[in-house]
Amino acid sequence: MNAPATADAVRLADPSTPARSADELFAWPIIRRLVGIPTVSRDSNLALLDWVRGYLADFEVTSTLTFNDERTKANLWATLPARDGNTTTGGVVLSGHTDVVPVDGQPWDTDPFEATIRGDRIHGRGVTDMKSFSATGLAMVPELLRRGLGRPVHFALSYDEEVGCIGVRRLIADVSAKGITPMGCIIGEPTGMRLVLAHKGKRSWRARVRGHEAHSSLTPRGVNAVQIACEIVSYIGRRAQAFREEGARDEAYDVPFTTAHVGVIHGGTAVNIVPRDCWFDFELRHLPFDDPEAFAADVERFAHGFLADMHAVAPDTFIAFDLLSTLPGMDTHGGSDIAKLAHACNDGDDVGKVSFGTEASLFHGAGIATVICGPGHIEQAHQPNEWVSVDQLARCESFMRRLADRVCIV
Ligand SMILES: [Zn+2]
Repeated sequence: MNAPATADAVRLADPSTPARSADELFAWPIIRRLVGIPTVSRDSNLALLDWVRGYLADFEVTSTLTFNDERTKANLWATLPARDGNTTTGGVVLSGHTDVVPVDGQPWDTDPFEATIRGDRIHGRGVTDMKSFSATGLAMVPELLRRGLGRPVHFALSYDEEVGCIGVRRLIADVSAKGITPMGCIIGEPTGMRLVLAHKGKRSWRARVRGHEAHSSLTPRGVNAVQIACEIVSYIGRRAQAFREEGARDEAYDVPFTTAHVGVIHGGTAVNIVPRDCWFDFELRHLPFDDPEAFAADVERFAHGFLADMHAVAPDTFIAFDLLSTLPGMDTHGGSDIAKLAHACNDGDDVGKVSFGTEASLFHGAGIATVICGPGHIEQAHQPNEWVSVDQLARCESFMRRLADRVCIV
């Protein structure tokens, strides 16, 4: 296999030597490079992808891009073929998003777009969320090719994850259209290198109640939007209580049942006016196997019980529900092949489920079993002075080495 030939190529440390400090990490040169290319979601990520394409090309690995409509951003898909030439069947996907959240207004002590070593930590935008995982996977490329692969290894680098998991949907559609059927996918979102097999789904709605104004001395001539809204809010509370007391449970989550709550409510203008309008926002964070549609239908059915009395006073009254956001839940059973593989690559028995959403549910929805495991902690993501510890990165490198032992021929 050719050594990296371009002047831009990084020199890689020997991946068999465990790192004790940041600059001993075999992925450190690539972490520096990726963090040094700003890829805030509102801007292009093409410069970063150009660098990755060049790096892979040095190893004769071709990559394909799927662009957004404006061709300002793209996803990258690259395959290291198995030694028998297989590029499509039964491989492992290493997946990361390339975009990062903005730094505007945040008090940083270092240049956010320069990975900076401070003691046993590396600071920089994206070191945790989530360029270090992608960098570590890319740093393994020469090792994987030298030893030869028994099955393909794919890289999936997406755009616009931070603004709603937008880009990866095109990448997944493209992969499916090409008939590529990976065994599974590992997404390196920060889990503290804990293996995560599931996350809850989330759906949120706005309810709008239109009543009828009247002088508050004449309440029977009005329709009180605030009071009707509060009846519906109370019903959501009773449903939440039923989820808690009678619903399905999964003790692997911090909160082991589906939750519902109302986060915002606005209504009325003065105490002596029967209020015409009231709206409130509510959300459901549901176990992957609970049905959010059934919950929404139940709340609407309850609300519509008020309509006959409302219309009897004023025909233009109504109650409307608008869907605000939706992200499916995902649960890769512990018995899936990718879960078993990732478990074997990890150095702890700790398996968990999390409540934050990721691209995992979209891969999962396309029939690609997916687990989440990456260095750093979600608490350090999106913060000023975002950091990741050398220990976490060393654990990620160990994970990749064990993965290599399981996908390589020698
Ligand atoms: Zn992320």
